[in-house]
Amino acid sequence: MGNIVIVGSGHAGYQLAAALRHAGNDDAVFLVGDEPHLPYQRPPLSKDYLKTAMKPEDLRFWSEEQFAEKAIKRIAGVAVTAIDRAAGAVSLSNGHRLGFDRLVLATGTRNRVLPVPGGDRAGIYSLRTVDDAERIRAALENATSAVVIGGGFIGLEIAATIAERGVPVTVVEAAGRVMGRVVGEAVSRHHERVLGALGVGFRFHAKVAGILGPESLGSTGRVEAVLLGDGERLEADIVIVGIGVLPNQELAVASDLAAGDGILVDAGLATADPRIFAIGDVARHPSLYASAPVRIESVQNATDQARLVAARLAGKPAGAYGAVPWFWSHQGSLKLQIAGLGHEADETVLRGRPEDGAFSAFRFRAGRLVAVESVDRPTDHMAARRLLAGGTMLTPGQAADESFDLKALAMARPQTG
Ligand code: FAD
Repeated sequence: MGNIVIVGSGHAGYQLAAALRHAGNDDAVFLVGDEPHLPYQRPPLSKDYLKTAMKPEDLRFWSEEQFAEKAIKRIAGVAVTAIDRAAGAVSLSNGHRLGFDRLVLATGTRNRVLPVPGGDRAGIYSLRTVDDAERIRAALENATSAVVIGGGFIGLEIAATIAERGVPVTVVEAAGRVMGRVVGEAVSRHHERVLGALGVGFRFHAKVAGILGPESLGSTGRVEAVLLGDGERLEADIVIVGIGVLPNQELAVASDLAAGDGILVDAGLATADPRIFAIGDVARHPSLYASAPVRIESVQNATDQARLVAARLAGKPAGAYGAVPWFWSHQGSLKLQIAGLGHEADETVLRGRPEDGAFSAFRFRAGRLVAVESVDRPTDHMAARRLLAGGTMLTPGQAADESFDLKALAMARPQTG
């Protein structure tokens, strides 16, 4: 029996511990996490958690007893501070060392901070943990105006929630449209329209010059407004910053493992050191669905990568990581589902009409389907996952033709992803 040490007890870390036992592995498993909580789900934090009386316990994967039953040793509220590859051990923030035969880095990401004058005032929040969500929910109780900086998934989910409460909210976005890194123009514009009707205001190509308080650009006191580069002042007693994340890769870098916007791993999710793996948001991995290695921030990716590494560590045939990426986001009444990766797409066709409220954008690269973004069309999404997994040929003409039976084409292939 050996020691498996998992660094990070978020989605990927928990899934790996659970999947190891499921796969019959009986090594000693240590799940080391710097958050004090039992592992929990993050997606509800920007959705139902802010709108309801959900409690931290409602988000937990397993209870303390379940971890004990599976003989998974949790070390909570403790960070791994260094990897000693020569000795096969990690150092912990509580002063202890822990030996490993296999080490899995599942350290996730942290939110980028806004580097502007006044950026550390009271009333400015960002959302990553359940503690962040608790603070934001409490602050929303008394908010009378809000600004969300960053028009990505999380920023828009929060903005929709604020608008639904009847509080004026403006999204400030540096690019020319929302979710520009991850979806095509049609889906962006549709979300802008629907969220706009809900009461969300937008400022595009906007730069934040500072966060103002009682004594203008000084950095103390409570936030009163956000100052934009063109001089516009947006009143806000709460500001939420969602401008993307940075991978927690420093441990790997300090131990001479390659990283560059994510820890670099091979198709089996191992680093250059065959005893050390990286999974989840922090891992940059080769993908069948992109021309260069990618780092993916999603529950699907964290779960599927955990399962692959668990199989490898349990001595089962695991192969290369090839799961179809998929993602979802709920913004007000909008239910967006994405299959595949659209960032390299060069052609987009629509199936259904945005003005009817439900449609899918089929995205192609050099004539091959690479991603499908579905708004309230779950059957298109499920078909897309099968089509992408099977590498099935679909032409843009077929995708746009509502009389073409997409489901039949998808079902004709075995699902592998
Ligand atoms: P994380 O879950 O972030 O876990 C990493 C853990 O490692 C953290 O607890 C961190 O504190 C810890 N850690 C870091 N460094 C150390 C160290 N040195 N020592 C010990 N511990 C360390 N995905 C979807 O697919 N759909 C959604 O709708 C969706 N909504 C989201 C909403 C929010 C508000 C957030 C924050 C994320 C959302 N995601 C969503 C993304 C999804 O939650 C992540 O992709 C997933 O959590 C990644 O899992 P992970 O284990 O790689 O990272």
